[in-house]
Amino acid sequence: MKKIYYSIIKELCINCGACVVISPKSFTIDENKKVIESKKYTENLEEIESILLAKKVCPTGAIVTEEI
Ligand code: SF4
Repeated sequence: MKKIYYSIIKELCINCGACVVISPKSFTIDENKKVIESKKYTENLEEIESILLAKKVCPTGAIVTEEI
């Protein structure tokens, strides 16, 4: 089964919120209004696809993924 690790490079993220809109199960906004990952790994195919789309759309290239 396909599983991916994903992460936001904090120094690159401009908190635009696009990833939260595209993949609300994978990204969220914390109490300091910073966009963060909801978790670090997922095996859910639908979620993986949305994370990869968010990665493509992210204006600063702040999302990194790795298939594991
Ligand atoms: S899309 Fe990219 S820049 Fe925008 S909040 Fe998500 S990680 Fe940050």
